[in-house]
Amino acid sequence: MTTAVQLTGMNQPELVSFMETLSEPAYRGRQLFAALQHRRLRSFDEITDLPKDLRTRLSEVANAASLKVESQYLSDDGTRRYLMKTHDGLPVETVFIPEERRDTICFSSQSGCPLQCTFCLTAQLGLLRSLTAGEIVEQIQIALNDAYGTGVKPPRGTNLVAMGAGEPLLNLDQLLKALRVMADPQGLHIVPNRVTVSTAGVVPRILELAGISDRPHLAISLAAPTDDLRNELMPINKKWPLEQLLSACKTFEETLKPGERLTFEYVLLEGVNDSDEQARQLANLLNRHNIRSKVNLIPHNAAEPLPYRPSSDAVVERFKNILESKGIHTYVRRPRGRDIFAACGQLAARQTTLNTRVVTNLVGAN
Ligand code: SF4
Repeated sequence: MTTAVQLTGMNQPELVSFMETLSEPAYRGRQLFAALQHRRLRSFDEITDLPKDLRTRLSEVANAASLKVESQYLSDDGTRRYLMKTHDGLPVETVFIPEERRDTICFSSQSGCPLQCTFCLTAQLGLLRSLTAGEIVEQIQIALNDAYGTGVKPPRGTNLVAMGAGEPLLNLDQLLKALRVMADPQGLHIVPNRVTVSTAGVVPRILELAGISDRPHLAISLAAPTDDLRNELMPINKKWPLEQLLSACKTFEETLKPGERLTFEYVLLEGVNDSDEQARQLANLLNRHNIRSKVNLIPHNAAEPLPYRPSSDAVVERFKNILESKGIHTYVRRPRGRDIFAACGQLAARQTTLNTRVVTNLVGAN
C-alpha cells in the first residue's frame, strides 16, 4: 500500500505518462483522469469504462484513493466534519460548510501543525507530516461525494479555504500541485480564484506566492496588533515580526487583481486582544501600511483545554465599529459547526462526544 503510486495528485499529462509506463495509449490516461477527478470515483472497480484486466493491473501498482473516512459528523447548521486517516495512520480533518449561494470546503494542508499558535487546538498535535497533493485533492472529493453523491455536479459553486490543520505555506509545492489538478476543466474545475490560502505569516513564501500567476487568494492570520502580544499568541512572529509581515503584504498587494483584497483574519479572544485600544492599534497598523485589504473578525471558538473564551457579541460589534470608523473594511465571520468541533481553531482529530449527530463511525475500518 505505501509503495503504490497515488494517482489522485496527478494532472492529465502525468496520468498519460503513467499509463504509458503500463504500455497503454494516451487516451487511457485521459480516461483515468476523468474517472478520478470529474466523476470522483475512488476505486478502480468503479471505473468500468476501463477493461477489467487493466483495472486489475492498476490495482497492483497504484491506488485510486488513499484517505479513509474514519468518522463524520453533521452539525445543526448543516456543516459536515470529516475525520480521516492517511495510509500511514495520520489524522486529516476537513469541514464542508453549505451556504445559500455557495459551499465552502475547509481543507487541511498538513497532519498536525508545526506552528504553536496558542489559540489553536491543532498546534497541540505538533507536525505529523505534510500532506501530498493527492491527499489534499481527496479531501475535496470526499466532501463533495458525501454532500451530493458520487460524481454529482454540486448545485452551487464550491469555494476552498486552506484553513484546516497545518500551515499551507510550509507545504506550498504540494498545495499548488493540488490546486492545479483541481483547476482542470475536465476534472473538478475549481479554479484558484475560488481558493483562499490562510497563513500565520511565512514571509518568504508570501513573497514567492506573489510571483505565481495562477495563485489563490491570500489571508493572513494576525490575532494581535503589536509584536509583544503577537509573539505570545503566534510565536512565528518572533521570526517574522509585524513590520516584515506587512511589508511582504505590501509587495503581495501589487499582484492583486481588480476587486481583489488581501484578507487579514483577527481571532477575538476575550480580555486578550479585544479592547478598544487594541482595535485602534490594529486600525493604525493597517492604515500605516495602506494595503488594499479587509479584516475578518473571528470570534474565538471555545476549545478545551485552551484557556481562551470568545468575546461577547457587544465587544465584537464595538471592535468592528472602531475599525470601520478608521476606514477599514471589516466583516464578522460567524462560527459554523461549533457543536461538532468543526469551527476555526477546534480541529485536532478529536472525536465529538455528541454521538447523536454521528452520521457514520467507521473507527477500525482501516
Ligand atoms: S492556527 Fe493554523 S498555523 Fe497556527 S497552529 Fe493552528 S493550524 Fe497551525
